[in-house]
Amino acid sequence: MSSRCLTIGHLYPHHMNLYGDRGNVITLVRRAEWRGIAARVVEVEVGDRVSWADLDLVFMGGGEDRDQEAVADDFRARAHDLIPLLDQGLPMLAICGAYQLMGEYYLTARGERVPGVGYLPIYTVAAEPRLIGNVVAELFPLPNGEAVWGRTVVGFENHGGRTYLNAGGRPLARVVTGHGNNGTDRTEGVIRGHVIGTYLHGSLLPKNPHLADLLLGWAMRRRGWPVPEPLDDELEWTAHRVMLAREGKKGLAARGS
Ligand code: GLN
Repeated sequence: MSSRCLTIGHLYPHHMNLYGDRGNVITLVRRAEWRGIAARVVEVEVGDRVSWADLDLVFMGGGEDRDQEAVADDFRARAHDLIPLLDQGLPMLAICGAYQLMGEYYLTARGERVPGVGYLPIYTVAAEPRLIGNVVAELFPLPNGEAVWGRTVVGFENHGGRTYLNAGGRPLARVVTGHGNNGTDRTEGVIRGHVIGTYLHGSLLPKNPHLADLLLGWAMRRRGWPVPEPLDDELEWTAHRVMLAREGKKGLAARGS
């Protein structure tokens, strides 16, 4: 048994867990375990004490407006612990409602202005209609050059919020089918350092193993461990290709497949 153990912080699983978001955490745990690395999940709810320095990776899922509002104050209060660690390379994946709360603010359909933690260079304004459906997008080159450029990501979106990037913000991907950040500029998600925000539920990571390993690789390198060795991902890429085919995009660069 390996002595290596990763600790994954799962923020607000009670309130922020839509469309199988929890499956992302299960994927990270399994993909670590398949490489002989133990993985422990620390669930953090409103008011819980957190030993931030112990975390190797942070995940937070999506939520309806009322759930976002229920966690927003608590989340903002944790920003002074979380943000310095993100600046030092702690990887984080934030989906939909969490993505919005990682930005500057979210103006809800009821006109409520919910301030975020302001780490991601985005702001979000709700509008009609909701942006719902399957998404195919192509990853942009990442700031630190990981070899996932041009590969597709597949997922499912359901959001009223339109998210806009501030000047200098780096989108994660270019929308091929679906709506992405705002339905107009064809961007999807944002990346800053090792923090990824995205609208893609689904769950995202089981059928996008390259993204799962990107996050795990960041966490492992931060510990000084070797990069994760490849796994047999035939099943994962089959799921990915099914989604591409459903959207009529069979020819795109799923790769790894
Ligand atoms: N409540 C937010 C919106 O509608 C986020 C929804 C979600 O997380 N799926 O935009």
